[in-house]
Amino acid sequence: MQDLAALIRAVPDFPRPGVMFRDVAPLLADAGSFARCIDALAEPWQSSAVQAVCGIEARGFIFGAALAQKLHAGFVPLRKPGKLPPPVATVDYQLEYGSDQLQVQHDAFRPGERVLLADDVLATGGTLAAAAALVGGLGAELLGASVVIELPALQGRGRWPVGKALHSLLRY
Ligand code: IMP
Repeated sequence: MQDLAALIRAVPDFPRPGVMFRDVAPLLADAGSFARCIDALAEPWQSSAVQAVCGIEARGFIFGAALAQKLHAGFVPLRKPGKLPPPVATVDYQLEYGSDQLQVQHDAFRPGERVLLADDVLATGGTLAAAAALVGGLGAELLGASVVIELPALQGRGRWPVGKALHSLLRY
């Protein structure tokens, strides 16, 4: 993982003063590292019969779609409001300042479909917890999540559903 960690760029004071933004663009731009990253994200789920990977807009689409290919699963985008044609299911969640929504097509899953979530960064955990609620609310079976980066100081795991696996590759 050291080689992957070396390709995460730390950008101070972005998108606001006081925030250290972890930028995955250099990792994505390196073919071998991107491939190793997807292998590592997939590794804990190889025997889990994952049927769909849900990627969270926007960088979750990049990792999620590649992960879906690796796991021979379908891909379902979880999108910001107003991007998907109706009918959609919506979940509201709190941000540090204000609130946001995630949406998914209402018929995205078959009953009991085995679903894995994917994103680039777990920070406060609000986004991933909302995604879990959205998927579970549509009758799919949430297996867990794989993320590239976890920021443990923000205690995102505390918002994640108890008993569901949450795998992260790198921690800062
Ligand atoms: P959370 O809801 O606070 O856990 O924030 C996670 C969401 O915000 C993810 O969808 C990330 O893409 C994004 N995010 C938060 N912090 C960073 C960062 O440092 N780099 C890139 N994305 C971030």
